[in-house]
Amino acid sequence: MIKFWQRRVENSIVTRHLEFDKDLEDIKKELKSKIAKKFAGSLAIRMVSSGSCNACEAECNALSNPYYDLQRLGIHFVASPRHADVMLLSGVVSVNMYHHVLEVYHQMPQPAYIITLGDCPLLEGVFKENFAIKGADSLKLPISHHIRGCPPEPKEIIRGLLDFLEDFM
Ligand code: SF4
Repeated sequence: MIKFWQRRVENSIVTRHLEFDKDLEDIKKELKSKIAKKFAGSLAIRMVSSGSCNACEAECNALSNPYYDLQRLGIHFVASPRHADVMLLSGVVSVNMYHHVLEVYHQMPQPAYIITLGDCPLLEGVFKENFAIKGADSLKLPISHHIRGCPPEPKEIIRGLLDFLEDFM
């Protein structure tokens, strides 16, 4: 314990200053104003993992931390598809998850949008279609936007949401 306090006194810095990312702040500002215009200030997202390795979900979890703080922009991850405007679909869409993905989509109030997250859903990464994997392409669902990466970083996800609002609405 004494050693611990000695180290704390000697190394006095206990927190690190994060570098200010101006690019990220600009994207967030733009995103907030688009959400205000097109979704009355509140965009609800239902995350659906259809057979992912969970790294995409881990990056999405980071979006709620105090640094990215997406809730401040009006973006909320919701538990029910009935409350969602957008489905954020990650994973390869396994055969076993296929019906659940369809079910979630049909429970969403229309117009509902689907954004695929990461390389898996469109099978752009290491996985290919086989007896256990369908891939979102064969789902025949209207995919509005695709966010690439394996996994995409939180900043790329935020940029992807902005691109979706700019391109498809
Ligand atoms: S895109 Fe990459 S990180 Fe995301 S679920 Fe697939 S393998 Fe995992």
